[in-house]
Amino acid sequence: MKVTVDQDKCIAAGHCVMHAAAVFDQRDEDGVVVLLDESPPAELADDVRQAASVCPAMAIHVEE
Ligand code: SF4
Repeated sequence: MKVTVDQDKCIAAGHCVMHAAAVFDQRDEDGVVVLLDESPPAELADDVRQAASVCPAMAIHVEE
């Protein structure tokens, strides 16, 4: 799995962090998403897919 984020689209809603805190973080200053792991392990794949599906800005892209 390969994950990318578009920080220009991100509206700092934070849903991604709630679903996969090992993969996503938010910048302290404005809450914009920070990608911690662009190749998360298989056991996090469901959480990452969930995070991408709930992102209101569709700023998370997942390649299987
Ligand atoms: S869920 Fe989407 S909009 Fe919200 S912080 Fe994460 S990437 Fe940004």
